[in-house]
Amino acid sequence: MLHNLGSINLDHVYRVPHLVRPGETLASHDYRVGLGGKGANQSLAMARAGGRVCHWGRLGRQDAWARDSLARAGVDVTHVSLVDAPSGHAIIQVDDAGENAIILFRGANHGFRRADLEALVAATRPGDWLLLQNECNGLEQLLPLAAGHGLRIAFNPAPMSEAVSELPLPACQLLFLNRSEAAGITGLALEAGAEALLDALAERLPGCEVVLTLGGEGAWYQRGDQRHHQPALAVTAVDTTGAGDTFIGYYLAALQRGAVVADCLAQASAAAALAVQRPGAAESIPVAAEVARLLD
Ligand code: ATP
Repeated sequence: MLHNLGSINLDHVYRVPHLVRPGETLASHDYRVGLGGKGANQSLAMARAGGRVCHWGRLGRQDAWARDSLARAGVDVTHVSLVDAPSGHAIIQVDDAGENAIILFRGANHGFRRADLEALVAATRPGDWLLLQNECNGLEQLLPLAAGHGLRIAFNPAPMSEAVSELPLPACQLLFLNRSEAAGITGLALEAGAEALLDALAERLPGCEVVLTLGGEGAWYQRGDQRHHQPALAVTAVDTTGAGDTFIGYYLAALQRGAVVADCLAQASAAAALAVQRPGAAESIPVAAEVARLLD
């Protein structure tokens, strides 16, 4: 079982003729609410890939439907607590040209106490995998606790923030980074090439395995002086939101089945290629049968 301590957000999406201006009241011509948050998306992707994942998260009491939705997908939600605080949520405006503006409220995702982190570690066995992103509080406490307990930590420092550089990153076994996260951690420019980013990561974090995703340029795996490149599938992308989350969930599910790195990358890249051809985030994550058909 992989444990994922991660965000669960509610995405409130409003379609508007233009992004609201200061002082303006604007009628929205469409509204929908969906499940989101990098943590929830990654658990969902792992479950859809056939992996076994236990999500540790916090939701406002009135939003149990989001927990039920994860459970229906096959995620173990025993440790998703319903609490007396507003759920993490995003207010998303999308205008007729496809431009968006987003207000993010971290809410219950930032209410983890040390006792919650200790309970997670106590419920795991040395050697278990723990997956983390950068949308919940407590990482600076959890990383040393988990490493001390012998957990293998997979960390996706998204969204990137300055606080990430302060974390004890060498405690992580596996890092999933996109271009901006790799640039943030190494101090290199966003324009840096893959080789330069990988060299700098090897120098900064010599003991960590790294999976660097570069959108349409595919993904790289690096461990010590071993490197492997997985090209992206040539597809027409309509919405790349959630591509990274889909990639991570499928990669970890393959790893859990004992697949070698090249297979983990191939599964992850096929799943992400399917996801980018569909609108939305959570709803665009494919199921395992679709990925198997693509790779056949
Ligand atoms: P997001 O934050 O939007 O979820 P990300 O920035 O974390 O995504 P990316 O590096 O953009 O992640 O993409 C992850 C993977 O998805 C890539 O390595 C690739 O396999 C796949 N992918 C992304 N964009 C495309 C594309 N245009 N065509 C094919 N595959 C893609």
